[in-house]
Amino acid sequence: MAERERQRGSGPEASRPASPGPEAPRQGPWELSVAPPPERWDDWVEWDASAWPERRERHFQCIPTICFNCESACGLLAFVDKATGSIARFEGNPVHPGSRGRVCAKGPATLNQIRDPERILYPLRRSGPRGSGQFVRTTWQEALQDIAERIRAAFDAGRHDGVMYHVGRPGDDHFATRMLQAWGVDGHNSHTNVCSSSARLGYALWMGADRPSPDYHDTRFILLLSSHLETGHYFNPHAQRIMDAKQAGARIAVVDTRLSNTASHADLWLAPWPGSESALLLGVARELLRTGRWNRDFVRRWVNWREYLAACDPGGTGTFERFAERLLEEYAAFTPEFVAEECRMPADVVEKLANEIAAAGTRFASHLWRNTASGNLGGWQVARCLFLLHVLTGSVGTPGGVNPNTWDKFVPKPSLEPPAVGRWNELIWPREYPLSHYEMSFLLPHLLREKDRKLDVYFTRVYNPVWTNPDGCSWIEMLEDEARVGCHVAITPIWSETAQWADYVLPTGLGPERHDLMSQETHAGTWIGFRQPIERERRRRAGETPTTTLGMNPGEVWEEAEFWIALTHAIDPDGKRGIFRYYESKREPGRPVTLDEYYAEIFDKAVPGLPEAAARHGLQPLDYMRRFGAFEVPYAGQERYEKESAAPPATRAAGGKPATGGMAQPAAGGVPQDDGALLAGFKTPTGRLEFYSPTLAEWGFPEHVLPGYVRSQVHWRNLEEGEMTLLPTFRLPTLVHTRTGNSKWLHEISHTNPLWVHPTDAERLGLRNGELARVTTRIGYFVQRVWVTEGIHPGVVGCSHHMGRWRLHREVGGEKQCSALVEMKRENGRFLLRQKTGVGPFSSADPDTSRIWWQEAGVCQNLTFPVQPDPVSGMHCWHQKVRVAPAAPGDRYGDICVDTSKSREVYREWLKLTRPAPGPGGLRRPLWLNRPLRPTAEAYRC
Ligand code: SF4
Repeated sequence: MAERERQRGSGPEASRPASPGPEAPRQGPWELSVAPPPERWDDWVEWDASAWPERRERHFQCIPTICFNCESACGLLAFVDKATGSIARFEGNPVHPGSRGRVCAKGPATLNQIRDPERILYPLRRSGPRGSGQFVRTTWQEALQDIAERIRAAFDAGRHDGVMYHVGRPGDDHFATRMLQAWGVDGHNSHTNVCSSSARLGYALWMGADRPSPDYHDTRFILLLSSHLETGHYFNPHAQRIMDAKQAGARIAVVDTRLSNTASHADLWLAPWPGSESALLLGVARELLRTGRWNRDFVRRWVNWREYLAACDPGGTGTFERFAERLLEEYAAFTPEFVAEECRMPADVVEKLANEIAAAGTRFASHLWRNTASGNLGGWQVARCLFLLHVLTGSVGTPGGVNPNTWDKFVPKPSLEPPAVGRWNELIWPREYPLSHYEMSFLLPHLLREKDRKLDVYFTRVYNPVWTNPDGCSWIEMLEDEARVGCHVAITPIWSETAQWADYVLPTGLGPERHDLMSQETHAGTWIGFRQPIERERRRRAGETPTTTLGMNPGEVWEEAEFWIALTHAIDPDGKRGIFRYYESKREPGRPVTLDEYYAEIFDKAVPGLPEAAARHGLQPLDYMRRFGAFEVPYAGQERYEKESAAPPATRAAGGKPATGGMAQPAAGGVPQDDGALLAGFKTPTGRLEFYSPTLAEWGFPEHVLPGYVRSQVHWRNLEEGEMTLLPTFRLPTLVHTRTGNSKWLHEISHTNPLWVHPTDAERLGLRNGELARVTTRIGYFVQRVWVTEGIHPGVVGCSHHMGRWRLHREVGGEKQCSALVEMKRENGRFLLRQKTGVGPFSSADPDTSRIWWQEAGVCQNLTFPVQPDPVSGMHCWHQKVRVAPAAPGDRYGDICVDTSKSREVYREWLKLTRPAPGPGGLRRPLWLNRPLRPTAEAYRC
C-alpha cells in the first residue's frame, strides 16, 4: 500500500497516480526499475559482459520510440551502441505514461525483427502469373508511377470505389484516414470485423463510445471477459494495472470457457458454455435488482428510462418507480437455475458475482474484448449485458469504474483537414449490414463476386487476409482473378500468405524504422506516443540533416508515411486535383511536406501543454517528442457527463439532425436534469445511456432493443448429435497474428497450437495426448495434434489462432523460421493444402537459424471456417460447430481441406438473417453511429 500511496500526486487530480513522465518527480514504479533516467540517455554506461573478467565499459545512447507489435503502443528505448551505431537491445521507456517502463515479451523481440535475415529489403514486382512466386526487383519510383497512373485512371473514369486501402493494424491514429479523405475515396477497409466490432457495437449503443476504458487503478472488483485482450491487445498496460490492483486488494473474476493466462491469476474462474455469457450477466443483473443493490439515483438521472417506458409500457404511469418494476420483470427469467442450465455452470456463481459487484459499487471495473463477443451470434449483446451491470452500480466514468474510451485517448491532427468524402462504398459498407461496426472487410471476396465489381488498386497494408480471415481460400480465388483485382499492392515489411498473390510487394519499415503517432486508452489519463526511426534520429543527433528515412533502413526499406506522401504527390503532381495541397510543404510550396514539418505542426499546435512542457526543457515540441517519446496530455477528469454542457451532443454536430425520430431528444446544448441544469451527458441520440435502444427499434431489430440474451450458433442446444463447439479465437501472450512471425525468440517460445480437448471428451472420442485429430467444419477440415487438458469446458475444443503460417514457395512467400512449405492442390473449388516440410534449421546471415530445433509450424484452422457475419454488428462469429474424430487413414499433421462452393452457401445462409437499409430517412446507416472514415451526411442516403 505504501508503494501505491507514493504513486499518488498532490494536485487537483490527487487520486490519480503521478505521471511517470519527465515532468514528474522520480517516484512510483520506475524508481524500482533498471531503466536509465532520461538525463542519462545520452551516455548510459554498462560493463561489457562479453569482455569479462576485464571491466570494459560500453556506452549507449538511448533513443525512445514505441512498439509496433500490438496496438498498445508501449514505449520502447532503443539502446544504441555508441561505438558501432547499431541497436543492441530494446527495453521499456520509463517515462511513457501508458506502459511506465514495462514491456511484454514482444517489445524486446523487436530486435529480432529488424535483424531478421529473411526480411524483404527491396521493392518487388510480379514477373509471372499471380501466385507463382515469381518476382523481380523494381524501384520505388517505378512502383509509384505505375500505381499512381492506375489510381488516376480509376478517378478519371469515376471508379473511386476501385481504390481500396485494407489495413490490418493501423499503428497510427490518423494518417491513413486523412490521406484517403484527401484522395476523395471511401476506401478505408480494416480488420475490425474479424476482431472487435461486436463488443464495440454493444458499447456504442449504450454510450456512444465503442470501447470501455477500465480504471483499474482505483478499483475494488475486476470482471474480465477479455483474456484475449490481456494476453494480446493491451497486454502490458492493462495487465500491469490489473496486477497492481490485485496487489492493492482488488478481487478478480475471469469469465472464459478456457483457462487463460488471465484466468490463472483470478480469484474466480468461470467457464460457461461459449455464447451463454449474456445469460450469466443478466442473472447477475436480476440478482442486483431483486435484492435492491443498485444505484437508483444514477439510473434515474442517466438512463433513458422515459424512452423505454414510452415504447414498452405505453399505458403505464411513466414514473421511475414503474421503470424499476419493469426492469425486474424484464429479467425475471434469468434465475440462477436458468443460468446454470444455459451456461452449464453451478447456480451459485450468480450470487457470488452479484455480491462482488454490489460490494464494489462505483469501483467496479470490467472489460470485454473479442473473446465471447467475437465468437458468437449476438455477441454484441454480451457487451450490452456487461455494461448494464455498470449502469446498475453507477460505475460509469467513476474512479475505479469504466470510462468511455474516448475520454482516455487523444488524437491530434494537422490543422488542414480534407473535406469529408461525398461517396459511399458498397463493397465496404454494404446496405445489408447498416449497423455493422465497422467495415464488412472479411466479406470482400463474396461482395466483389455478388455485386460484380472490380478493384483497380487494392492495397493490403500490414494485412494478411488469406491467413487471418475466415474462408481464406475464397480470398485466394479473389486475389488471383485479375478481372476482380486489377493491381494488388502488398505494403509489408515481411512476406505473408497474402503477399504471395501481390503484383507489388513494397517493404516498409518495421517499428523502429518509421514515424507514427499513437494514443491508447490504457488507463484514466491521456497521452500521445511518438514512434520514430532510430537510425535517422541517431544520425540527426550526430549532426546530419536527414530529410527522408529511405537510406537509413536496411536495403531500400522505406518509411511508410513518406511512401504515401510520395504517392499522393504522384497522383496529383501539379495539384490540379486538389489532393496534393494536404501534403504540400508550407515552408516551400510545391514540394511534398517532410515528416519533420508534418509532426512539428501537430506538436506545435494540436497538443495542449506540449509546447509549454517542451519550453521548460529548452526544446521545441518536436524535439521534446524525439527526446522523450511520449507526452502526458492534461487529463480532463472523470464523470464528465456531470459537467455543464459546453456543446450540443455529438449526434447533432455529426449529422446535422438526430438519426432517430419520435423519441425524446436532449435540449440543445445539453441533457436536462430535474433541477433545470443542462449537463454534458453521453454521445447518444438521447444524451443518456441507452438501456432502450431507439436505434435498434428503428432499424429493424425490435427484439433486441434491450440488453438481452441471444443463443449463439454454437450453443449446446443448437448442436446436433456428435457436434462440438470449437473455440478458435484465443491468443498466446508471446505472438500477435502474423506480425511476430519474424521473431526467432518468440517462435522458439511458441510454435504449436494444439487442439485443447477435455479428458472426458478425449476418452469418449478415442483421442490421446499428442495424437492427431481431424476437425471437420461446414466447409472442410483440418488435422491437428491433440492436447488433453482440464483447462477447457467439456464439449468444447479450443485452438489458438496464432500458428499455422504457410508458404507455397521455398524461398519467397513466407519466413522459413515460422512457416511450413505446403503443396496446394485444387479441383473445382476444392483446395487441399498439405505440408511438405515444417520448420527446420537453415543457413542465413543469422547463425541462430541453423540452430532451430522445433519442427512444427502449427495449423491454419481459419482456412476451414466459413464466413458467419452477425446480422447486427457484422462481426464474423468465429466459433464453429465441428465434428472431432481421430485422424483418418492418410491424414497428415497440418492437412487442410476446403470447398469454396460450400463457403458461398454458408455466406448466403447468413445473409438471409440481415435486415438491409434503407432505415429511417432513407439512410444507409444511422448518422450518429461512427465510421473510421466518415463521409458527408448526404452520402448516408441510399
Ligand atoms: S503490449 Fe504490445 S505494444 Fe506493449 S510491448 Fe507488448 S507487443 Fe509491444
